[in-house]
Parts: sequence; C-alpha cells; structure tokens
Amino acid sequence: MQTPGNIGKPIFLWPATSSDLREAAIQLGYYGYVAELFDSPAALLAAEARNPTAALVDCGGGDCLSEADKEALAALSGRVPLACMSSSGTIDARLGAVRMGCQAYFTRPLDMASLLDTLDRLTAPPQAEAGKVLIIDDSPALAAFYAAHLNEAGFVTQVVNDPLKTLEALNEHPPELILLDMNMPGASGEEIAEVIRQQDAYLSIPIVFLSAESDVGRQREAMSLGGDEFLHKPIEPEHLISAVKSRVIRYRALRALMVRDSLTGLLNHTSFKERLRAETARAKRQGKPLAVALLDIDLFKKVNDTYGHPAGDRVIKSLSRLLKQRLRGADVIGRYGGEEFAVALPETSIEGALRVLNNIRESFAAIVQHAGEKTFQVSLSAGVAEFGAGGDGESLIQAADEALYVAKHEGRNQVKASV
Ligand code: GH3
Ligand code: MG
Ligand code: MG
Repeated sequence: MQTPGNIGKPIFLWPATSSDLREAAIQLGYYGYVAELFDSPAALLAAEARNPTAALVDCGGGDCLSEADKEALAALSGRVPLACMSSSGTIDARLGAVRMGCQAYFTRPLDMASLLDTLDRLTAPPQAEAGKVLIIDDSPALAAFYAAHLNEAGFVTQVVNDPLKTLEALNEHPPELILLDMNMPGASGEEIAEVIRQQDAYLSIPIVFLSAESDVGRQREAMSLGGDEFLHKPIEPEHLISAVKSRVIRYRALRALMVRDSLTGLLNHTSFKERLRAETARAKRQGKPLAVALLDIDLFKKVNDTYGHPAGDRVIKSLSRLLKQRLRGADVIGRYGGEEFAVALPETSIEGALRVLNNIRESFAAIVQHAGEKTFQVSLSAGVAEFGAGGDGESLIQAADEALYVAKHEGRNQVKASV
C-alpha cells in the first residue's frame, strides 16, 4: 500500500549488479515503495513511460560512468527526479552528478534514513484541496450559492441551515474556516460564535461573518466575540474566495505548528484525541466499524542506551514513515507519547486492523537500523480495539492500551486484540 499520491509508481534503481542497491530495494519495500532494478541506463530510459517517482543510480566511485550512460541519465533526469550514490564525496564527483541533473547525492555507506527523507520529499502527494469551509446560513439558496463558488475554487464545503446543528457539523467534519450568517432563527451568529469559541478545540478556527447587517455597533460586537472578519452581503464571489483563501492559508500554517509533532510530522497527542473524537462520532452516526491501535517500540530504552539518543530518534522516524506509507489517507496517525504511536482506522473491523498491524509489525522488525557503522533491528508491540456501542474515544484507547499491555507481557513483538 502506498500513499494516494504515488500508487503503483515504482522507484527505478541501476545497476542491478550493485549490492548496495539490491539491499536498498529490500529496505524500500518495507516502507511500501516498489523498487525495480535495471541493467542499463538505456533500459531505465525505455521504461520511463511507467512514470517512476524517482531513479537512484549507483555511480560506483568517482568518475566511472561511460559517456553514453551519462547521456542517458541526463536525458532521464529531465523527466524523473534522479538521485546518485557514490563512494566518492569529492567536489569533482559531486559536480559530475549535478551536471547529469541529480537532485540528491549520497555517499557510501547508504544512509537509508536520509534516502527515505529524500524520496518522501520527491514523492510527496500534491497539496490537498484548497480548504474545508463550513457555511452556516439559514437561507438554503444563499448558502448553496456560496458553496458553489467555493467548490469551483477547489474548497470542500459543508452547509448547515439550522444553526442549532453547528456542533454536530464541527465535530464530524472539522472545518478550516467558518462562514457565519448573523441573522438566523434559533440563534444569532454572535451567539453561535460564542458557543464555538468556548470550546478549546475550536478556539483557533477562523470565523468570517457574512451578513447584510449594516449596524456598525452590532458588527463590532460580533468581532469582539471571536470573529476574524466581517464581509457584507451581497459579496462578489472573487472577494469571498480571496478572503477565505488567505484566512485558510494562515490557519493551516498556525495549525501545523500546533498539532504536529516536530520529530515525525505526525499528529501530537492532543490532536490525535481530537481527531479520534470526530471519528467515533462519525462511526456512531454511520453505524460503521472503527478500530484503534496503540503501538509501542520494544525495549527502546536499550536502543538509546546502546546506540545513543540520535539513533533512537531515527528509529522513531522510521516507524512514523512506515505508518504513513502503509496506512490509508483516511486513517489517523498520531505520536501518542515518546516511543508510542496511536492509529485510528475508520471502516475497519478488528480482524482487518489485526492484519494491517501485523504487516506493519513484520515490516518494522525487518528494517535494518543504522548507528554509524553498526546495524541493528527493533520490534514493536501493539494492542488493537474495536469501537462498540456505548463506548467513546477514551474507552477505545484504554481497551487498546490493555491489549498492548498483554502483548508486552506475553513476550513483545506481537499484536493483541482487546477482549
Ligand atoms: P517496553 O518494551 O516495555 O516498551 O520497553 P521500553 O524500553 O521501550 O519502555 P520504556 O517506557 O521503559 O522506555 C521508553 C524509552 O523511550 C524511555 C525514553 O528515554 C525513550 N524516549 C522517549 N521519547 C524519546 C525520543 O523522542 N527520542 C528518543 N531517542 N528516546 C525517547
Ligand atoms: Mg512506552
Ligand atoms: Mg517501549
């Protein structure tokens, strides 16, 4: 399984005779990449129509490629990101690679962590949609009009005509901006803004009032209750789109700092729980299964003690990368604690989750970790639980934690289901 952005796209490796590349191909497989070995640059070039995400070539040491090989690789680098591996780190060798169009250069021994960082960067899926907008307006016609224009500009919209349904909408599809009407039956826009702002999870979502209200005093009051901007109805669609776009961009930048763990880029503890709450609400409403797993690296203290803290950090990163590669876009992945991870798998039964987690467990245990010249392998244990009637996110996590405890107790390197 790969991330949606690069499904089925292989990584091309040349030459097949390189033992380093053959080992890299095996290691890449553990991270969900499909690596293919080739016999000549001409063969690489001939297979280019299969649209590889990147090509990695072993240049041996120094300047030892033939002119024909260099030419073929230079032609390839115009269309496919090219990375080069060599025994030589001299300026001449590096310049030769740059002149062939190489975007990355690795010296032997190949550091898988930095190769993976580079590949992740080169193969990152394109930026998701422009933004998620919740429109709260009692007029179905007006709300649909705004939604249509925002959709056309790439935004994903959700419309609520009854302001009293706001919390359900927020919980199930957390938006990145709220467009809020002021005059609505049931509750005013100002009141709804206050209700939203009184909940920590929604403290930073931009609220843009969109109203025909001409009373400046009331406008000012609405802003003081947590509004970010006041737009007048009727509004030109272009104006609406540009106002929404700039707010969403700023919100995303802020959120990235707030919700992501800096070592792994995964959701942090608080954000994972927030997302889990939304997933349990959705599972309940749709009557679909939801599985949660807690993963903990085995005997990790020993890794730190033996190979040092930086090597431990790389192990943590290798697991986060494996999770990102193996899980689907709809799955939620968090760094739950130091060497502990949590994942939520929507529409997945406990049997399905056990299968996925066992695959991940096996791949992780097979990854060769590096600490300078030394290599080692690390395993993980996991506990899995399925969402059931009457439960919530908290009880689900607790059930998974109990199963994890059993997995540790029964000898580690295993996945246990909650009973
Ligand atoms: P077990 O198999 O029972 O889980 O054993 P363990 O050694 O993994 O468990 P324990 O909870 O005793 O140790 C976890 C260690 O993880 C302790 C802590 O120093 C280390 N750790 C936590 N966060 C980080 C981190 O960000 N980087 C590194 N390198 N180590 C970390
Ligand atoms: Mg632990
Ligand atoms: Mg541990």
